[in-house]
Amino acid sequence: MTVETFSSDFIARLRHSRGVDLETASQNDLYSALAWTVRKNLIDRWLETKKTQAAQKAKVVAYLSAEYLLGAQLNNMLLASGLEQTARDAMASLGLDFDKLASVEVEPGLGNGGLGRLAACFVDSLATLDIPAIGYGIRYQHGIFRQTFVDGRQAEQPDNWLELGSPWELPHPEASVTVRFGGSVAHATSATGEDVATWTPSWEVEAVPYNYLVPGYGTANVNSLRLWSARATQSFDLQIFNSGDYEAAVRAQTFAENISQVLYPEDSTPQGKELRLQQQYFFVAASLRDMIEQVGTSLDALRTLPERVVFQLNDTHPVIAIPELMRLLVDEYSVAWDEAWDITRSVFNYTCHTLLPEALEVWPVELLGRLLPRHMEIIFRINDDFIAELREQRPHDELLVRRMSIIQEQPLRAVRMAHLATIGSTKVNGVAALHSELLKDKVLVDFSNLWPGKFTNVTNGVTPRRFVKLANPGLSSLIDEAIGTGWVKDLSELRQLEPLAEDAEFRARFRDVKYANKVRFAKVLQERDGIEVSPDAIFDVMVKRLHEYKRQMLKLLHVVSLYDRVLKGDFDPTTLTKRVVLFGAKAAPGYLMAKEIIALINAVGKTINSDPRLDGRLRIAFPANYNVTLAEKLIPAADVSEQISLAGKEASGTGNMKFALNGALTIGTLDGANVEIRELVGEDNFFLFGLTEPEVEQLQSAGYQSAKYYESNPALRGAIDLIASGAFSNGDRSAFERVVSDLLWHDRFLVLADFESYIEAQSTLESAYADQDAWSRAAVLNVARSGFFSSDRSIRDYLDRIWHAPAVPLR
Ligand SMILES: *Cc1c(COP(=O)(O)O)cnc(C)c1O
Repeated sequence: MTVETFSSDFIARLRHSRGVDLETASQNDLYSALAWTVRKNLIDRWLETKKTQAAQKAKVVAYLSAEYLLGAQLNNMLLASGLEQTARDAMASLGLDFDKLASVEVEPGLGNGGLGRLAACFVDSLATLDIPAIGYGIRYQHGIFRQTFVDGRQAEQPDNWLELGSPWELPHPEASVTVRFGGSVAHATSATGEDVATWTPSWEVEAVPYNYLVPGYGTANVNSLRLWSARATQSFDLQIFNSGDYEAAVRAQTFAENISQVLYPEDSTPQGKELRLQQQYFFVAASLRDMIEQVGTSLDALRTLPERVVFQLNDTHPVIAIPELMRLLVDEYSVAWDEAWDITRSVFNYTCHTLLPEALEVWPVELLGRLLPRHMEIIFRINDDFIAELREQRPHDELLVRRMSIIQEQPLRAVRMAHLATIGSTKVNGVAALHSELLKDKVLVDFSNLWPGKFTNVTNGVTPRRFVKLANPGLSSLIDEAIGTGWVKDLSELRQLEPLAEDAEFRARFRDVKYANKVRFAKVLQERDGIEVSPDAIFDVMVKRLHEYKRQMLKLLHVVSLYDRVLKGDFDPTTLTKRVVLFGAKAAPGYLMAKEIIALINAVGKTINSDPRLDGRLRIAFPANYNVTLAEKLIPAADVSEQISLAGKEASGTGNMKFALNGALTIGTLDGANVEIRELVGEDNFFLFGLTEPEVEQLQSAGYQSAKYYESNPALRGAIDLIASGAFSNGDRSAFERVVSDLLWHDRFLVLADFESYIEAQSTLESAYADQDAWSRAAVLNVARSGFFSSDRSIRDYLDRIWHAPAVPLR
């Protein structure tokens, strides 16, 4: 495509779809027309992909995820279509600023954090590897909230990402699927003596599919992401409709459309909200129906399901799909229960994302039974069959039965979704080597004893297209020049950079790239947030959701203790290595402790940033609203990656991988994928600290008392006392009492126990940074040895270990 055709397509689009010309177009008109012009160049490939995959009856990977944290679309679509330069030149020829237009896009924030971003990386890699795959999810009207700070405290604003329309989606209302809820179930016995259940639901909604193109990189393949949006049916409330109460029926419609209104902002701590269960069933029921219709609903076709589709459950959010498939097979298509169960178990696989007990989803039997009465019956039957089998295999162990049952009795009768997922799946995987071990040995130990072959690991990954190629053009060009361009599709090729770590000229160029990225980010921060930072400081970065287990408090105590020592005259601030500590983090709106920590970080930042005694050598920068767009700008500029969760709490992390691939050095604990990062990059190129997981267990079972660490470590005591003294709250000693007293009397995540070790690792890091050339060598090695963390490799592992779905290249 030439610049001229691109320009004339763009102008035509502007006129015919937006009804404006260049003179009268708004920024949004221009952005939309640009997006449409780019999309036009992918549509043929997309249609061709669908045709090829359908003709071959290839096995499809159906990824079921309640979240997709996609990030901005335009640049990724341009990369896939190879039109980056054409689009830039075309805009320039029309007197338009491409970068300014690109910045109009509001990113679709349809996820909370790592889990949703993982799903987005996975659909990218599936497309790149030519795997027939579809991502199913929810088209939330409002994605993750927009964060602002008011007096340093988090305030949330609704994310209106669809306000001006999205040029990337293709709605198909004619392909809507009806999803039903509530009502009651009647039973009868068939002529052959089988139980026949008839569900009479009490209300229903329509699920409208919106398709998004997911183009692969370096291939013609374009897969789909299908997100469902809720719309009221004409007869939404079946009782009201039949009674003829028109007004009530109309009023009730808004209730139906509520289902896809908003993403729940809790990350790792699900709230047992009825609407959330409605969302889960809504998208899963629509997706199963959609998939089954593609395979066919005859008994013969249904029997081929295991060869035609594999459903991957991204955490427990879509696990209601298991009883839903049983309901479809048994009640709607008259498949015998045992055969239906064999089919069901062979098409589902479950990815567990957590180790925190409070993150394991449970649904009260009362609620699930009211919303989905037939599914509740099916779950009970699955459980009865499972327990009967268990009693046969492990007689006289009723404690075991109670532990493994899908139904928990205390403190509330509820369905344990992780148990249902494990029982109803072929494979269960954790998301990093350590996590998968702990899953087998702790969280699901009874199940792994019963079915050892069911458990496997697939270490997470990130897409190198978005997080290196697009985010870090400077580094990308340097790599291209050194080893060619193959690394974008085969990230293991980064290994070829290893010898260049010994090349002084290469190191200098690598350092120049990092410096230029820091300058670029400093400018972004100035324009976006009015925050000033010097590119000559260490960029020490901790960006991720705010959670106590991730331990932003430990990072903050490091800063406060440095400040405290300067105030006490313990050392001369001019000997401090210049450092900017960058935080980015959203807290769940109802997570009070997390919000207190945000307020405290901002309060400390306000005080130290304006204290002339520090001479600008130690600063905190906390830009609001950390999202994918900010991550792409910030991560390439980072010197230090803070991955400091308590060992045994972070399942994997993926932020840690993005940083290593962009040449930041990690300071971290032996947690999640940090373990594998350290093994690969080499222990000399990683700053390790902290307790190991077994040490954490031991310390906690011996009765951990954080106050002892406070008493015995003067630097720690100084930092905590300084916060408690009101130094960051205008003398108000009660302002951060909740945080202080939690650290002293609970400290569930052992911040105080790891403090000393962390401070030591930080001073090792500081000395290492002083030798810039040695630092660059270590940074180059981090890049060269992190190719393993491509999500392409994760997908290959899923294919080998779980999915067994062959690639279907076009032509
Ligand atoms: C990668 C990413 C995450 C996950 O970060 P972790 O450090 O692994 O928790 C969260 N949010 C955004 C915007 C990301 O890009």
